[in-house]
Amino acid sequence: IVRMEKVNKHFGSLHVLQDIDLEVATGEVVVVIGASGSGKSTLIRCINGLEEFQDGHIEVDGNELTPHGKSGKALQKIRTEVGMVFQQFNLFPHLSVLDNVILAPMKVRGWSRADAVETAQRLLERVGISDQAAKYPSQLSGGQQQRVALARALAMEPRLMLFDEPTSALDPEMIGEVLDAMRELAREGMTMIIVTHEMGFAREVADRVIYIHKGEIAEEAPPEKIFDTPEDERTRSFLARVL
Ligand code: ATP
Ligand code: MG
Repeated sequence: IVRMEKVNKHFGSLHVLQDIDLEVATGEVVVVIGASGSGKSTLIRCINGLEEFQDGHIEVDGNELTPHGKSGKALQKIRTEVGMVFQQFNLFPHLSVLDNVILAPMKVRGWSRADAVETAQRLLERVGISDQAAKYPSQLSGGQQQRVALARALAMEPRLMLFDEPTSALDPEMIGEVLDAMRELAREGMTMIIVTHEMGFAREVADRVIYIHKGEIAEEAPPEKIFDTPEDERTRSFLARVL
């Protein structure tokens, strides 16, 4: 569902992504790990067109993103098909939980309010917060807010979900509830690309782990392989620091 070929991105003189080749199949769960500043966020933000790149090409579910942000219609299509959950939950503070979840399906997909509400209630139930629907984001814990963000992304019926450190801003006791919701989603067959520092979670849910070092894919392998017998010296020294 995702194919990146020789993708390069620069921020001024900084070469943030170097010849990235990456393919993700439908139903696959790919976890991206790497040091701070290695380009993980930039990589996944390129996939839904939040960042431009300078050369190479990216195809998402048959829609092609071209360099320098000249993708037009394909970009709009990708934005409606790809859901994203960020480290900061980015909920609309002036809208209730329910309204946060129904907004995009009504505006972008043209659903009736009744249909959007029905779907939203089902999704809120699924992430375990159906009793919070009338509250505002500021009245929820971080873990609850992040689960609303997940429900909001799922309401668009995405073909692919991107996660950028979804638990990094959470207090430790709330990390589990968000990881549980993600685990459930993986079990249901959602295609997911996840940037995370939760190595235990990565080992458990990933079909494949990608280690990024200074903008390059240094190693990619199934989790058992990369965590137990990493081949690249750079992967070994990174894991020695974080595990
Ligand atoms: P972290 O684990 O800290 O989130 P990351 O792997 O996600 O790091 P990126 O955010 O992708 O790293 O950043 C990669 C590099 O690009 C860093 O050196 C960063 O400083 C730089 N960078 C990111 N965004 C910009 C920007 N808008 N302008 C200039 N440089 C940027
Ligand atoms: Mg990042």
